[in-house]
Amino acid sequence: MAGQLPERCDVAVVGGGIVGLACAHALLRRRPDLRLAVLEKEVEVGLHQTARNSGVVHAGIYYRPGSLRARLCVEGARRLREFCEEHGLPFLPAGKLIVATDDAEVPRLQELFRRGQANGVPGLRWLRAEELQEVEPHARGVAAIHSPATAITDFRAVAVCLAGLVGATGSRVVTGCEVLGARRRPEGFELRTTRGTVLARAVLNCAGLHSDRVARLLGAQPGIQIVPFRGEYYVLRPESRHLVRGLIYPVPDPRFPFLGVHLTRTVHGEVEVGPNAVVAWAREGYRPRAFRLRDAWGTLTYSGFWWLVRRYWRVGLYEQYRSWCRREFARSVRRLVPEITDRDLVRNGAGVRAQAVAPDGTLVDDFRVVLQPGAVHILNAPSPAATASLAIGDHVAQLATEALGLQPRQEAGRSALGW
Ligand SMILES: Cc1cc2nc3c(=O)[nH]c(=O)nc-3n(C[C@H](O)[C@H](O)[C@H](O)COP(=O)(O)OP(=O)(O)OC[C@H]3O[C@@H](n4cnc5c(N)ncnc54)[C@H](O)[C@@H]3O)c2cc1C
Repeated sequence: MAGQLPERCDVAVVGGGIVGLACAHALLRRRPDLRLAVLEKEVEVGLHQTARNSGVVHAGIYYRPGSLRARLCVEGARRLREFCEEHGLPFLPAGKLIVATDDAEVPRLQELFRRGQANGVPGLRWLRAEELQEVEPHARGVAAIHSPATAITDFRAVAVCLAGLVGATGSRVVTGCEVLGARRRPEGFELRTTRGTVLARAVLNCAGLHSDRVARLLGAQPGIQIVPFRGEYYVLRPESRHLVRGLIYPVPDPRFPFLGVHLTRTVHGEVEVGPNAVVAWAREGYRPRAFRLRDAWGTLTYSGFWWLVRRYWRVGLYEQYRSWCRREFARSVRRLVPEITDRDLVRNGAGVRAQAVAPDGTLVDDFRVVLQPGAVHILNAPSPAATASLAIGDHVAQLATEALGLQPRQEAGRSALGW
């Protein structure tokens, strides 16, 4: 897959995760004549957030009506189903329960139900305690929302497929190509990479955990910083998998953009338990003790992080304790499925969320797309961005075509820019 770095291109997409590849694919659908290069620092596409997530195609229940997340999630889920059908990729409507485990959670569950309806989520049902067990016989709660449209997929397989489609148009996916620096030129940006330099008329920054840094390389002031939050997973032992048919979620804490530790069937037949949310001291720190001085220093010297600590230090300490203590992890999911014990859980890797945090400690909730002359930056693409990726691609392609002057060129032939 490691295509050659061109000397020049019309558009350079920094980051070969599902979002960058979906943006590249959408741009090429509008403008097949564009010379586009996706620059990915790893040896393969989609190895970070795209590969390390719950694999859930969210239906759009949680998000504030009218927000980009609400709109693009519902549209993206529909598009993703069609895409997976067309390309023979796994897409299983597993169905999901969000369970209120005590009466105090019911008003929040009602609010989610209202949001889901306002967002146009298909097939949503409100279930009483005895009804929820018809869907998930081992789950317990006082009420639940059932979303039969919530599905599971393999987002990395989607990303690999998108990379193939981008490559098939004659554009390039260049792996092992980290963008290290940028210089403004009259024609666009000269990007310095580990594989040489490329002159791009326009740049799309889809660098996920590094999107704030890439924005700064290009001379933008992102106004936020990525604070990485690791989400750790267990899996249920094979003999306990029968306890979960589809997806079982708690009612999330509305102060945070994370959904709470849940039970998720995967397309490979396992049942995952997680993810939690602990601050990671390395942006790509998948192990509990992972530490990278540059990343840790960046977090510790950021005002937004300290505002977060001030507000939520109790939650943070509890999350850290639960990360160390399997029994406590099991206790969290036992509220949803009482038969699960800590002996049912086996450690199973982690992902790191690229969460944008404002200088005042606000956890940025919605997707954030920022324009700069010659560049578009995707600065916050947390969950459900994998679900929404194809719709994000269309949204960004439209913005980029209008704002970056990517209207059809007059000059003929691909060789004009030295392709
Ligand atoms: C634990 C966890 C669970 C989640 N669960 C779900 C879920 O169930 N459903 C859902 O819809 N979403 C989920 N998400 C969110 C989803 O995974 C992300 O929103 C989505 O994958 C973001 O994709 P991306 O392309 O922006 O980022 P990434 O996949 O991280 O891609 C960014 C790419 O940019 C590259 N890059 C970075 N810097 C440079 C550089 N300087 N030069 C070149 N390349 C660079 C990286 O190597 C990487 O490949 C979850 C996320 C996590 C962490």
